[in-house]
Formats: sequence, structure tokens, C-alpha cells
Amino acid sequence: MTPMSALQKTDPEIAKLITLEEKRQREVLEMIPSENYASQAVRSALGTVLNNKYSEGYPKKRYYQGNAVIDSVESLAQERAKKLFGVPHANVQALSGSAGNLAVYVALLEPLKDKIMGLSLAFGGHLTHGQPQSATGQFYKSTLYELGRDCLLDFDAIEKQAVREKPKIIVCGYTAYPRIIDFKRFSQIADKVGAYLLADISHIAGLIVTDQHPDPAPYAHILMTTTHKTLRGPRGAIIMATAKGLKKDPDLGKKIDSAIIPGIQGGPHDDQTASIAVMLKEDSTPAFKTYAKQIVKNAKALATYLSDFDFDLVSGGTDNHLILIDLRNKNVNGKVAAIALEVANIVVNANGVPFDTQPPLYPSGIRLGPPAITTRGMKEPQMKKVAQWINRVIEEVKKEKLPAEKDARNEFMKDFKSRVYKNKNLLAIAKEVKLFTSKFPVP
Ligand SMILES: *Cc1c(COP(=O)(O)O)cnc(C)c1O
Repeated sequence: MTPMSALQKTDPEIAKLITLEEKRQREVLEMIPSENYASQAVRSALGTVLNNKYSEGYPKKRYYQGNAVIDSVESLAQERAKKLFGVPHANVQALSGSAGNLAVYVALLEPLKDKIMGLSLAFGGHLTHGQPQSATGQFYKSTLYELGRDCLLDFDAIEKQAVREKPKIIVCGYTAYPRIIDFKRFSQIADKVGAYLLADISHIAGLIVTDQHPDPAPYAHILMTTTHKTLRGPRGAIIMATAKGLKKDPDLGKKIDSAIIPGIQGGPHDDQTASIAVMLKEDSTPAFKTYAKQIVKNAKALATYLSDFDFDLVSGGTDNHLILIDLRNKNVNGKVAAIALEVANIVVNANGVPFDTQPPLYPSGIRLGPPAITTRGMKEPQMKKVAQWINRVIEEVKKEKLPAEKDARNEFMKDFKSRVYKNKNLLAIAKEVKLFTSKFPVP
């Protein structure tokens, strides 16, 4: 029996939902920049019999018997990660990016005493960079930096703050920053104040390993990346100690490993580890390099076409895989835009913009990017069509004014949602998009 027919037999309800999600992913323009389509090979390793094993510990140092095969799987993943990222130590067990960052802090920081310095969430940082809503900002002290008025990293301000706050870890690497990150400049600041530099490359790792973005390995002490974004793997994360990191702290690798287990996790997900190994093999190929190059070309083309429609791009454009649009000049709220775009089969996320004047659930912008649609084979000419559709959708909802007052806003959203799913013009675009995407196969 194939896995799907076994599922169909045991649980037709869930089988049907998976089929529906498959259809959704096929029909829409999936443009959330943290998402992608993993290959069949990557997905085939998941949910295999490797799921059945307990293997607490590391290759050749396990707490349970029966791990000879698992040891080979994990060692392969480690070796491939070290080679691809050019680092001497890799841990492939973190269950996801947030656990990866937490493990780094557990490895290096004393709770309630040592300080994390990360970019504020409102400016494109991640919750796990020391935000007060996150355990990382509650278990540890934190100080958050912001972007400059030009929406770019302001290194003089960051340096001053680091000197004043004396963080033990400085985090660079973001969720909504469309520009190149100057890792060298960050390392000068970290070195000056004696801090560890953690490069959280979750979003841009696929661009880094293909030379489409400068490499943090010579400058940062630790690299952390998720595996399911531009790397196009299963959900998961890799934590790495660089040569520079081991020079600063020869026990860095051991500390990271101990922070994962016994620090914050128990048994690793061995099928996930195998899938990460498959991903790393794919990511080392010339085909993947071509793919990553095309992501950047597509993002730049899309940015240009969107600018032609007078969209206000944060920082004026993009150097990487993502675009952040400030919709205030169009008088459309980001949440309203994101919902309308979804009705039109274009999936993006509402996102805050630097110096946003709106609350987080109703931010002023949307965030989008081409990693997933590039996997489907779309190129620059298709980006023009995408920009045209986005523009038509935004024009369609231009008269939808989101009230500032909370009760009125909730009333408005209820009314808006009751209308928008029936909007004929948006549904017409949805049809066009569905026909268009049917020509670009998903893996
Ligand atoms: C996605 C992301 C994370 C967290 O990853 P999860 O797998 O969602 O826990 C952490 N840092 C950055 C910069 C990210 O983009």
C-alpha cells in the first residue's frame, strides 16, 4: 500500500484535508518568502521508519541501542552541512529555528544575567531575538536595536548601543530585511565589545550557499538556519560553530550540542535528519545554484514592476528574495490587502514596516517574495504578470478604509470579510491566476 492509500483507509478525513491543501498549494501563487516547495526526494525521507527510532545523544554516543543506521544518517547530514557552509561543527538536531536560537542562548548565556542584542520584531527581527513576548526575552536580558530612518541597518547606532549595553550575544539576520547584511561590520562591533556574533540566516541561507549573498562564516561565531525556507528542505534547523567561533571558544561546538540535549530537547527526529541530509545534497548541485540566482533575479524584476505601479518598497527595492511593501501611499491596510490577495489566489502576509503607525494585527505593509514560485519555474516575464495582478487587487480594495478605533475596526473587518470573498473582480483574477499556475508544476 502506498502511504497515501494507507492514510485514506485509516483516516479519510485527514487524507481529504491533505489533498485539499495539495490543491491549494498547486493553484495559488505562493509568495510568502519564508515558504517553499520541498522536492519529492526531501519529503520522501520524512515519515519513513526512521520516525520510529529513539536516538538521544549524537553519533557513536547514544543512550539507546540500535542506532548504527541512525548514526550513519546523522553523520552524513553533519558532514554535508559542514561542507556546504564551510564550518567545522554542525548540529542538525534542532527541531526548528526557534529551538535552534534558544539552544544557542542556553549554550552561552546565564539566565537573567546575560544579554541578547537583536533587531526589534517591529523592524524585521524575529521573536527569538530577545523580544519580551518570547521566552528568549524573559529568560535572558535583552536590548533591541532598530533600523535607521532610511530603513537600513544603522551601524553607528548599533555600535553605540552595543558599547552601552554590553550584550553577550549580538544577533544579525532577519525576517523582513530586503537588503544585504554587512556581516563584517557586525563582527567588528561584536569583537569590540567581546560579544558572540550569531548570524541567524534562516531566510537567506539558500542565497548564501550559492554566493548570492555574502558569507557570514568568516565573521560570525555561530550560524543558525532553518532548513525549510530558501534551503528548500524539511522543517528543521542547523546550528553551526564557525572556525572563528571555535577560536574564540574551543568548547563552542560541545556547548551547542549539550544545549540541544540534555539542554532543551530529548530524542531527535531522525526522519527529519535524513530529509535534511537529502536537502543538503540537493543544495550542493549546480541546479540549486541556478535556482537561487533566479530567485534574486525574480525578486529584482518583481520589485521593478511593482515600483512602476507606484508601490512604495521599503528601502527602495531588494537585494535578496523578499520585498516589503509599505501600502500607506495607497491608503490600503496590509491585512485588508493580504485578505484580498488571498481571494485572488495570491498568498502573501501582512507585515509591519519600519516605523509602522498601525497595530501588529493590522500592519501597514505586506511581505512577499519569489522563492516558492521560482521553484515552479517562473522567471522574469512571469513577474510582470504577478505585479499586474497585485496592482489590480490593491486597486480593487482602495476604497476599503480600516477605522482606527478598535470596535469600529472589528465591525469593518466583519463586513469586509462578508463581501470580499464574493467580490467578482477578485474572483476573476483568482481564475486567471489558477489557469496561469496550472502551467507551472509543483514538485
Ligand atoms: C523563520 C525564522 C526563525 C524561526 O524558525 P521556526 O522554524 O519558525 O521556529 C528564526 N529566525 C529567523 C530569522 C527566521 O526567519
